[in-house]
Amino acid sequence: MNTLFGIFTAKEYFNLTTIAMPGFELFGAEEKKEVQDVLDNGVLMRYGFDGNRNGHYKALELEKDLAQKMQTKYAQVVSSGTAALSVALAVAGIGAGDEVIMPTFTFVASFEAILSVGATPILCDIDDTLTLDPAAVAATITPKTKAIMPVHMCGSMADLKALKALCDTHDLVLLEDACQAIGGFYDGKPLGSYGDLGCFSFDYVKTVTCGEGGGLITNSEVYADRAHKYHDHGHDHIGDNRGAESHPFLGYNYRLSELNAAVGIAQLRKLDQTIATQQKNYTILREAVSEIPAVTFRRVPETGVESYAFLNLFLPTEDLARNAHKALGVHGVDACFYWYDNNWHYYKKWEHLLEQKSLGSLSKEQQEGLQRNVRTFDSSDQWMGRTISCLIKLSWTAEEVQERAAKMKEALQSVLEVV
Ligand SMILES: *Cc1c(COP(=O)(O)O)cnc(C)c1O
Repeated sequence: MNTLFGIFTAKEYFNLTTIAMPGFELFGAEEKKEVQDVLDNGVLMRYGFDGNRNGHYKALELEKDLAQKMQTKYAQVVSSGTAALSVALAVAGIGAGDEVIMPTFTFVASFEAILSVGATPILCDIDDTLTLDPAAVAATITPKTKAIMPVHMCGSMADLKALKALCDTHDLVLLEDACQAIGGFYDGKPLGSYGDLGCFSFDYVKTVTCGEGGGLITNSEVYADRAHKYHDHGHDHIGDNRGAESHPFLGYNYRLSELNAAVGIAQLRKLDQTIATQQKNYTILREAVSEIPAVTFRRVPETGVESYAFLNLFLPTEDLARNAHKALGVHGVDACFYWYDNNWHYYKKWEHLLEQKSLGSLSKEQQEGLQRNVRTFDSSDQWMGRTISCLIKLSWTAEEVQERAAKMKEALQSVLEVV
């Protein structure tokens, strides 16, 4: 493979895909056409300039498509997945003094968004779903808790039914971070649509990409109405004179540009095909690895359907997982991750959070609340220490998947046979 779709050399491609879910693998004529619409009229902003835009409202169109695809009443697109989480928390009325429960295994964006609205992230153990453990969440709830934020890491989901029951009992908001699992389902519903609010990232390494972008979905008219105002400085969006609009409450600027939205429209249309390809490739790899009895798989909650973005494996012990991760590399199986040692996705390396290395002062409530996170999370360590996640790509040929399956099996067996 010299170039991929004439865009990347093989080396660039593999560097890019360090932790990349493959939306950008599909960048093609469809994306270019949508972007060209915007370039042809030159209106790069979603609001105003009605006379010049030749009928193109790409952000609005992406919102309609996203709501339809996710079977929710409303969608709001924003400038990133982190922004989507921040807006979701803000529209749910979460702020200073409030605590939000989040998992020890996630991307740093989870606590960034919570801190950004003035609230306090409280870490909580994960279980063999690699997402929030409902029993641990129950033990973490305090009178200050306002929301539970499960993160559907690596293509599969949290036990949403159990988490929703806790939310109902304690009057909490259920906010799903589905940034890494777009296209999966739970209880017959698209991931992100089960909770009160759901968030997606469309950054360059996600399953659906806008370059940079994000979206939130909800069935709440109140949240949706707050979201379009909040993400645009509090503009009420009434009338056709932007400068004369009023501002019912404080907001920020988390708008998505028309250029980015245009890419997202074409990408979202490819989602079903993307998931089907991921499922096909995932299944071949999983069947091969299943022949090794000592290797087990991440638990998918009942009624859950993965997005198949990753194949997630458990080795019997931490040592074996480390060895297996090395062996996979030696056998030429790229894009497999040992998150336990990873700088960005596991609490052990979040010293900037745990030591409160903030450029400006954090609030008193945050400074106190964050102390609760300075501890070990034994159950999380048990699971993450044994976990390896292997990325599923779209561009593999049938031959390459078969070859990869054989190499994976060989690599894992080489480590397990010496036991
Ligand atoms: C990518 C990601 C985000 C943040 O999205 P950005 O668009 O990069 O800001 C949030 N949560 C998870 C789980 C992610 O993987």
